[in-house]
Amino acid sequence: MAFESLTERLQDAMKKLRRKGKITESDVREMMREIRLALLEADVNFNVVKDFTKRVSDRAVGSEVLDTLTSAQQIVKIVDEELTATLGQEAVPLNKSPKIPTVIMVSGLQGAGKTTFVGKLANFLKKNNDARPLLIAGDVYRPAAIEQLKVIGQQIDVPVFDMGTDVSPVEIVRQGMALAQEQKNDYVFIDTAGRLHIDDVLMNELKEIKELATPDEILLVVDAMTGQDAVNVAESFNEQLSITGVVVTKLDGDTRGGAALSIRAVTGKPIKFVGTGEKLTDIEVFHPDRMSGRILG
Ligand code: GDP
Repeated sequence: MAFESLTERLQDAMKKLRRKGKITESDVREMMREIRLALLEADVNFNVVKDFTKRVSDRAVGSEVLDTLTSAQQIVKIVDEELTATLGQEAVPLNKSPKIPTVIMVSGLQGAGKTTFVGKLANFLKKNNDARPLLIAGDVYRPAAIEQLKVIGQQIDVPVFDMGTDVSPVEIVRQGMALAQEQKNDYVFIDTAGRLHIDDVLMNELKEIKELATPDEILLVVDAMTGQDAVNVAESFNEQLSITGVVVTKLDGDTRGGAALSIRAVTGKPIKFVGTGEKLTDIEVFHPDRMSGRILG
């Protein structure tokens, strides 16, 4: 699982503090130095680390703790609270349209886990909310992607609308949306094309789909394993598309986890779900407090 080495290092830093009797300002500074290094090594964005350590230091060194309390526990609590704040404070639920269907557009670079996530979330909504989703196969550049979505649709027993690869994605979305209206599907997922890197053609196509479908959610799927690249991708997509949320996949892998910790603070957009494996049930709603607890161990 992600964060193992980060957790170990943060625990070490805080353990040292717990051994002290009365905690001095210099003890706190020493701990903060270690926390700072641990976060940077976990590939957390530099500015995010800087802000985070400043907030913790200010509270821990300030009158809030040292004058009145000598408990390391209090300082650990501050670390937890500030990490939770960095991660977004509260879980942000999926947007829902007042009238059906709620349209969820899913974007991301190729290989990030976009198509898998469409299947995971459709399955999640079907199981938990009795939803009747329709999946639209909009990745016309890779025939394998359409096939993959159809296979996933069969596995979770959710219909997939596709028109092969010879029709423009915008037209596919137009017809898919019309079908969803007719069939009274309550959720429509638009699986869009990914590229190996961000380019104008990709962005323009996504903008066209956005204009046509006016999605309630524009989720960007990023791969935690790609570290700072995931953060950069999130920044560009957000600038161009105004995404409504982020999905961080592959947190089960041997990743240092820095991307997951940075994205909210860098983009201002909430992480809504995380992917924790290849199976279609390996999806979790993102809760900043629980994630902080998990990281701090
Ligand atoms: P897309 O190109 O963005 O649509 O990516 P895919 O959905 O095809 O996923 C690419 C690969 O990542 C596949 O082998 C998936 O099984 C795998 N994958 C997706 N999400 C996760 C995850 O949360 N954890 C792990 N370990 N693998 C994942």
